[in-house]
Order: sequence, then structure tokens, then C-alpha cells
Amino acid sequence: MSKHIGLFWLKEDFRIKKNLALLEATKNHDYVVAFYLYKKKKFENQEAQRWWIVQSLKDFKDKLNNYNINLEVINIENYSTFFNSLIKKKNFSLYWNKTYEPSYLKFDNYLSQNLKIKKIHFKICKGNILNEVDEIKKSDGTPFKVFTPFWRNSEKFYMEKIPSKEKNISKCKDKTSFFGSNSNQNQIFPKKKWYKKFEKYWVPGEEQAIKELKKFISHKIENYSDGRNFPGIQGTSKLSPFIKHGQIHVETIWEECLKIKKKNTEKFLAEIGWREFNHSLINHFPYMLKSNYSKKFDKFPWEKSSKHLTAWKKGITGYPIVDAGMRELYSTGWMHNRVRMIVGSFLVKHLLIDWKEGEKHFRNCLLDYNEANNVAGWQWVAGCGADAAPYFRIFNPILQGEKFDKSGEYVKKWVPELKNLPSKFIHKPWEINDEKILKLGKDYPFPIVIHEKARLKALNAFQKI
Ligand SMILES: Cc1cc2nc3c(=O)[nH]c(=O)nc-3n(C[C@H](O)[C@H](O)[C@H](O)COP(=O)(O)OP(=O)(O)OC[C@H]3O[C@@H](n4cnc5c(N)ncnc54)[C@H](O)[C@@H]3O)c2cc1C
Repeated sequence: MSKHIGLFWLKEDFRIKKNLALLEATKNHDYVVAFYLYKKKKFENQEAQRWWIVQSLKDFKDKLNNYNINLEVINIENYSTFFNSLIKKKNFSLYWNKTYEPSYLKFDNYLSQNLKIKKIHFKICKGNILNEVDEIKKSDGTPFKVFTPFWRNSEKFYMEKIPSKEKNISKCKDKTSFFGSNSNQNQIFPKKKWYKKFEKYWVPGEEQAIKELKKFISHKIENYSDGRNFPGIQGTSKLSPFIKHGQIHVETIWEECLKIKKKNTEKFLAEIGWREFNHSLINHFPYMLKSNYSKKFDKFPWEKSSKHLTAWKKGITGYPIVDAGMRELYSTGWMHNRVRMIVGSFLVKHLLIDWKEGEKHFRNCLLDYNEANNVAGWQWVAGCGADAAPYFRIFNPILQGEKFDKSGEYVKKWVPELKNLPSKFIHKPWEINDEKILKLGKDYPFPIVIHEKARLKALNAFQKI
């Protein structure tokens, strides 16, 4: 008799700890095969993430080996064709964790209907979130649109849940394969591309995620409220790419934080709260993935300037803090949150370019790119999101630089052509007037727009809506 196999569909859950679908599969079956579906088209606009995924697949394959579980990678054109042919096979059950994006959750419904019709056993488990997106609602049953009451309710709801005893996954009887020759990892491997240099900065994997969390809790969390604002120091956890790829579960972060009684833990957990809030928003208002949450922005007179957009992407706008951020992003696949807000504001308010352009560029370059956080982050910056910064509050890139990167350490790291500038001029190099130190227009560009003029223009544009 042929073996009945537990298939674990690996999406963004590259972890052993708190991986409910994997746990279920190993509990119910002697033979388990994990599979990862690589849809090339999806990653055409998410290039940086390919690097992280390749590293994570290698790491996770080795880990699963210790449990006698094979990990097979399959290149596909689309999910439905793949699963329609899978369900014609016999002798398997299917397990996966939820990914909290409307398209995935919609597909879960479609797939579960088809599996039911074919009488194939399956289980969909809770993914990387504290509360399921429809568990947190206002008393009238509608979704929250403001963060503070959302998070107050979420924390309370989560703490009142009875914690289930954590179980370890068990070792399978023997390794086996399921997809055989169809499985091929080669196409994901990036050729020599810009993102190869991420190796210098990151070690993707579950152990590293736990290590980073512990390091952050031991040395940084107490100063998080202030430290998180200064891009020149490491004041944040830098866990975002690990969370995105599920190398650490947010429940683990919660538990580890609550084990210690340190100040600022609440503040840090509230940022995890923003992630929960953003997931709630995109699932309750999925139209915001493609358009403005606040409809009045549909009439906003955005400008189309490929010259300005390119200068922004390349980090040659002439505003040092903006350029430093864009170059940090390109070099490391990550950007500090304060600087994300500054560069975002510069794009939509100083250059009057639609936030969707910024969202697209971040999607391609961020290792932590996450549909909910990116779209909501951009709409927050643009002023058209839920509970967003008002449009008329326009970040001044000079003052932001002087406040949060006073000595210019961050700027000098990413914009080395300014490294000899005295701190007084580091955020306004056009004032130096000493060609021995800096030839403006040659060593470093003139500002592409003048702050005060751009500010007035943005306010005028805002008046129109
Ligand atoms: C324009 C814009 C785009 C963004 N795009 C993304 C994105 O694609 N993916 C992403 O994970 N975050 C995004 N963020 C949110 C935030 O910048 C990053 O989560 C944060 O910088 C990650 O660094 P960290 O892990 O050191 O954060 P920490 O400060 O250590 O926070 C811990 C975790 O909390 C969550 N978090 C922190 N800040 C926020 C926030 N403002 N909103 C939502 N969750 C938060 C993240 O999961 C983060 O890893 C964006 C913010 C802006 C302004």
C-alpha cells in the first residue's frame, strides 16, 4: 500500500517553533513533505526578497532534514493550476498557515472548497499574527480605523486567551519525496545582481532571528522610545525581514518581551501592534491596496516627473538625509523607520509624486516588504491612510536631519562624498561655499527642489482637494 503523506505548504513560515501547520502535519503523518511554490512573476517586482528567500530555503531545508522532512521547491505559473493538478493525486493531506493578505485568504477559500469536494483532508492554521484579523472589532461589529483603541482591544483580547502549551514537531519515520523531478530550486537563485551585497548585512534564518531578539531585549529595549528615532545608531530590533518571512513568530516576541520587566517594552510591542493594525486595515478595506484609503485623495493633482523620481530612487536629490536613506535601502535592503518617513514625505510632498510610485520602489528593494505595512506606511506618510499624518504636516528634511542625525554620522556613512563637511553644513551642503571641501553640482548635486517653495506648492495642491 502506498504511503499517505502529509504535505506542508510553506509560504512565509520559515520556522520550526510555533509553526502550527507543520506541527499538525508531523502529528498526523509518519511521512511529511514540505513544498515551496515559486511564482516568478510575483517576484519580478520584489527582487530583494528573492535573495532572502533563497537563503531561507537553504537554511530551512537543512533544518527540516533533521526531522526527516524533504523540502521541495516548485516553479509555478499560477496557484490554481498547480493545486488543480495536485488534487487529482491521491494519498495526501494538506496543511498550511494563513498569510494575512486578501488575495491569499481568498485563495484559501477557493482551495478549501475544492479539497472538500474531492474529500481530501486539509487544515489551515493560524499564521504569524497575535489575533486573527476578524477577532478585533468595535462593539458595533465594524473594524477599527484608529490605532490606539484597536491596540488597546487587541492586547486585552490576546492576554485573555488561554495560552496553548507549546508542542515540538516530531521526527518523521523516513524522508520521502512527493513532487520528484518537478521540483527545481535553480530559477530562484539570483544571478550576480545588486542584492548580492546583502550578504554583508544579514544572516537569514530562525536561529539568527532569536539571537537578534535576545540581543535587542538585553541591550536596546530600555532605550527604545528615544533610540528608535536616530538612524545613526542601532536603536531598533531590525527584526522586520525575519518577521516578514516568519523566521520568528510575533507570539514569541511577545512572550520574550513579557519575561523581562524592562521599561519601553510596551512601546516596542505597540510597534508590533501597528503591524497587526495594518493587517486588519488591508483585510477590511482591501481597496486600499490599489487606491487611496481616503477617497478625497483620488483627485489629488500628482505630478509625473521621471527625472525627480529617478533622482529620489538613486539618492541624488541634494538633500543629504533623503539621499542617505535611499542609498541605505539600495545597499542593505532595509531602511530606518524615521528615514522611511522622511524619504516618503519628500517624494509625496516635495516632489508631489504619487505614493504608489514610492510603494512600488520599496516593494522591490525591501527585504521586509510586506503588503500591509508597506501600503499602510505609504498612505500614512501621504496623509491619505487611516489614522494617518495629516497632509499639511510637511517634514522639513533639513530640520529632520539636524534633529535626528545631528553630527551627520548616518549621512556620512551612506553619502561618503559629504564626509569632510563640518556638522554645521551636513544637512545643508549648499551653504558651505568652500570649493576645497565640496564642489556643489560636481561632488554632490544641488537640491532638486527648494524646500520652502516645494512646501507652499504642496499646500496649494492640498487645497485643491
Ligand atoms: C513608507 C513606509 C513603508 C514601510 N514599509 C514596510 C514594509 O514593507 N514592511 C515592514 O515590515 N515595515 C514597513 N514599514 C514600517 C517600519 O518602517 C518597519 O517595520 C521598521 O522600520 C522595521 O525595522 P525594525 O524591525 O528595526 O523595527 P522595530 O522598531 O524594532 O519594530 C519591531 C517590529 O514592529 C513592526 N513595526 C515597527 N514599526 C512599524 C510601523 N511603523 N508599522 C508597522 N509595523 C511596524 C515591524 O514588524 C518591526 O520589525 C514602513 C514604514 C513606512 C513609513
